[in-house]
This record gives sequence, C-alpha cells and structure tokens, in this order.
Amino acid sequence: MLKKFFAAVLAVIYFTSSNNVCETKSQWQPEITIGLLSNVNEVTLQFNMPCIMTDGKTSKKIKNISAGQAVTIKASDIPTNGVEIRPDKADLNHLHVMINGKDYFGGVKILKRGSTMTVINIAPVEEYLRGVLPKEMIQSWPLEALKAQAVAARTCVQKNSEKHKADGYELCATTHCQVYSGVETFATTDRAVAETRGEVLFHGGRTVDAPFHADSGGMTESAANVWGGNVAHLKAVAEEMKHTQAWTVKFTVYDFSSRMGSAFGTVQKFILTPLTLGKSANDRSTSGRVKSAQIVGSKKTVTMRGDEMRRKFSLPSTLFHVSIIGNEVVFTGYGKGHGVGLSQYGAKAYAEKGWKYDKILAHYYQGATLKKLY
Ligand SMILES: [Zn+2]
Repeated sequence: MLKKFFAAVLAVIYFTSSNNVCETKSQWQPEITIGLLSNVNEVTLQFNMPCIMTDGKTSKKIKNISAGQAVTIKASDIPTNGVEIRPDKADLNHLHVMINGKDYFGGVKILKRGSTMTVINIAPVEEYLRGVLPKEMIQSWPLEALKAQAVAARTCVQKNSEKHKADGYELCATTHCQVYSGVETFATTDRAVAETRGEVLFHGGRTVDAPFHADSGGMTESAANVWGGNVAHLKAVAEEMKHTQAWTVKFTVYDFSSRMGSAFGTVQKFILTPLTLGKSANDRSTSGRVKSAQIVGSKKTVTMRGDEMRRKFSLPSTLFHVSIIGNEVVFTGYGKGHGVGLSQYGAKAYAEKGWKYDKILAHYYQGATLKKLY
C-alpha cells in the first residue's frame, strides 16, 4: 500500500509549506486535508468561533460566518475555485466544526465537482491524530504502546499524503488511509499523541513506510514477502514473548471443495511444509508464513499463494498450517493481519514489560530512527 518514498527534504518542505500560521513556534503544526463527503448537494456547518469563507484560489473574502450559526451550503452556491472556511482571527488549532451534526477539528474546504461538491476537513495534524489513535488501538492499553502507535500513525500521514491528490485532498477517513471520525477522544490517547508531538520515523534520510497490524503471531514478516521490493527497515523480527492466541478455521470438505470451483473436484490433500515459527522453506517465508501451497483436488491440483488463501477462506493471517481431519479441512494458525511492521499486541506486551515507545519502534522498524519535525 505504501510504496512511494519522499526525500527527507521534501518531507520538511511539505511540513513547512502549509499556509497555517500559528502564534508561537512551539504550537506550530502542519495541516492535513481529509475528504469526508463526496458527490453531495448540500452540507450543514456550524463553527465554534467566528469564521470567514474565502475563495479557494484567490483567498478573496466571500462572507463572514458567526460563531454557533448553522449554515447550510448548497453545491450551487460554491464558486468554480471552491471555498475555504477558517477562523477570522484565531488559530485553526482551536477551531471545531460540526459537519452535518458531527464534531471535527479544524476548518472546511469545499470543492465544486460538476453539479455536486466534495466536503473536506482541514485539520491540524496533531488534532487529527487525536481522532485517529482511538480507532487504531484500544485506549486502555499501556501508554508506551499507544505512543508507538501514535508515531506509526503520524508517519503514515506523511507517507500517504499524496494518495488522494486526484480527489483534491490528502487522506480519506476510512481504512484505505486511516479511520477518522472527528472528535472522539480519550485522555490516554491524547496523552500519547502529545508526548510524541511531531515525531516520525526516518530511515536513510527519508520518511519510512510504517505499516502495522494486530498480532504478528510470534514473528513479523518482511515487507518483501508481502508486497515485494526490498525495504531495509521492514524485515522479519521475532517476538521475545509468546503473547498470541492460536486460531482455528474449519470447513467441511464439501464447502471447501465448492469454494475451489467445479473444475477442482473434491479436495484430497494439501502439499505444504509443516509450520515451524521462524523456519523458512521453499513454500514458507522467513517467519514461517505460507508463500504458496498445493491443493490437490480429485480433478486437478491448484497452487495458491498464502495471501490468496487468506482472502478466499477469510483466515486471520498467512501463518498457518492446513490439513484434512475426518470430513473437515482444518486451518490452524497464529496472529492477525499482514504481519509487516509494528505488531499491536506485541507492542502492548513489550510496554507491559517496561519497554519505552522508542525501543518498541526500534524493534519493529529495524534501523529506522525517530525524528522530531516540529
Ligand atoms: Zn484513502
């Protein structure tokens, strides 16, 4: 998913080229644009302080909006250049906006799209992360695990900021980028964001890809084995602790065979090296995840990649073994997610053991370093 590297210098330019102007340097933070609504005909907005609506290109003032005033904006009202709504005098960091009754940090940008419009939230990055973190990790987890997750999420913001260029904004609010539902915050996750303010992961002078997943199952996977390419800081690393729950997924031989299609016949057996964590084989990766397996049917034999099997049979991970027991096809495995980068359950276990967030990050993103951008 995250493939394009920015040069460090570009990263810094990105973080400093924003038109956000703050009162003091210590409060400065970049802005991020998040697409919330597309192809809508109208939207109702309400701001907590006096704002001005300006032309999206010329910045020429269009009108004032009073604090607390609910305004319904129709697509037909939006000029070709679109509009931005920001505080009249105060800083964007203190602005909240209700968008169709839901509370968001920051201001609003609206783009004209034919006869409809796209509604975009302009949020200060640190406020945005306060909304994102509780969606990515359970807020009652140890602080150091939350802080590690906050840095990974902040790093992803920077890496992904060109994903939606064609749409006119930087990130969407779904799992495609990061889940964001505005102001739904907790003291613990707020603290994790505040205590890592401005910190992102760098490697070789660039912002890194910082993928994360729920549970490595005992050992993470190298990015090369999942997405291809050779990513220095995303190698397979073993967990020191066994903190993972085994899982089992079963199908009847009939159900399994049906899913393989009529040309396959009935499943006879699987040809796959038995699973040993951290032991590679021609059909298993460094961590032991399935690269491919041969599935022998009564009509033909199919070779299927591990990630294809994971998708087709809704398996939690590719760290599994599979066999036929009686009348059932039984998958048994460990972990949840793609297995690359930070393991959230692993981070929790390390935090409980007393590790600080920087040590947790150094474990999962080997060779990457923390850099405070602001
Ligand atoms: Zn997206």
